[in-house]
Amino acid sequence: MKYQSVKGFRDILGVSAETFSFVEKTARAIFRKYNFDEIRIPTVELSDLFLRTIGETTDIVEKEMYVFEDKGKRKIALRPEGTAGVVRAYIENNLSQKYPSQKFFYIGQMFRQERPQSGRFREFSQIGCEYFGNLSVYADIEIILLAKDILESSGIKDVKIEINNLGCEKCRPLLQKNISEIITKLNFDNLCDDCKRRFSKNPFRVLDCKIDGEKFKGFTPKLCNECSSEFEELKNGLKNANLNFTVSNKLVRGLDYYTKTVFEITSDVLGSQSAVCAGGRYDNLVKDLGGATTAAVGFAIGVDRLVEILEKTVRSPKSEAKSPFVFVCATENDDCKKMAFHILSEIRNSGIIADGGYFEKSLKSQMRLADALGTKYAVIIGDEEIKNKKIILRDMKVQQQKEIGLDGAIEEIKKCFNRNS
Ligand code: ATP
Ligand code: MG
Repeated sequence: MKYQSVKGFRDILGVSAETFSFVEKTARAIFRKYNFDEIRIPTVELSDLFLRTIGETTDIVEKEMYVFEDKGKRKIALRPEGTAGVVRAYIENNLSQKYPSQKFFYIGQMFRQERPQSGRFREFSQIGCEYFGNLSVYADIEIILLAKDILESSGIKDVKIEINNLGCEKCRPLLQKNISEIITKLNFDNLCDDCKRRFSKNPFRVLDCKIDGEKFKGFTPKLCNECSSEFEELKNGLKNANLNFTVSNKLVRGLDYYTKTVFEITSDVLGSQSAVCAGGRYDNLVKDLGGATTAAVGFAIGVDRLVEILEKTVRSPKSEAKSPFVFVCATENDDCKKMAFHILSEIRNSGIIADGGYFEKSLKSQMRLADALGTKYAVIIGDEEIKNKKIILRDMKVQQQKEIGLDGAIEEIKKCFNRNS
């Protein structure tokens, strides 16, 4: 083989591709229900945007970003996540004035150069949303319910929801001090190299470390009064919504912009990469990027992992794909081909799935293909049919055919279709 796909990148084929489409369609419908508007943002941004938002000491920025220089000597990055771009677009396009709802969703590819393994790809797809301008914990509750709604409506049953509160600017310095003390007590020398390096700049990152994070399971953060009571309100709100969750004090998320509420949704069906959705509140980000002070909360669902769960748990994931109802064949004569192609278009125009037009093949091969595709009816047009202004309509299952007049052909096919659907 001369060419292979680039390491960490993959082709998504057949039923998998259909399941991706099904999930995207489902998500769109659910977002509409919660009054979110779609936003489409570029795949690339200035790399500085991600440095500023995601944070210098995070895995993404330190190791995973695809960064390159364009011909104008700009430093560009393939987007590793969606929030930074949406916030940039929100400020740049003055969306706070243009959209009263302030709720946006996106669906698209993200890129991270991490070690390829199960559940981790270098190009992957996320369904995400950002809800601006609502400080209330009820916005957080809505967002968590919305994420669960998308997962459940896609066909996923047993997910686990973990929540935490990372505190506001007021409690952050105290929390950091708290964590630093615990780390020092735990013995700094035992930490992995990444944690040693990040410790002084951002001790929070140690909690998120894949190696050292586990050591902080029992850690109880001290929040300011406001954050504590908001956290209680969040927990009560989730309980009232009949949502099961656990509190995980070591959940800090791999991006620096979060404040207060953070959450993660996991599934046991997935292997060690068990998170299928992650999100939280980021009340400082819009201001940090030059906008007005704006509350914000959002999440991102990893679609590749969502599809993996469906493929492992649902015997045949709901699929949009259907066999063509009609397959149109013609013999070699030019007039036959023209007529057949015209009929094929007419059938499609009447909303029926149809295939055909493989006129370089023999009639026998065309029929074989119709059969392989699982077609219900074949339309056959040969010299005789042209001459008599007729077509042959063949029921592929019972292997019987009849002649019908050209004039009433589409009506007859529609009748067959209505009987079958
Ligand atoms: P992880 O801890 O698994 O590295 P993360 O904290 O980097 O996740 P986020 O940036 O919050 O993940 O992204 C949200 C979701 O996107 C994840 O929960 C996951 O489902 C999905 N995701 C993240 N990275 C990848 C990847 N490389 N391949 C496939 N899906 C991914
Ligand atoms: Mg990661």
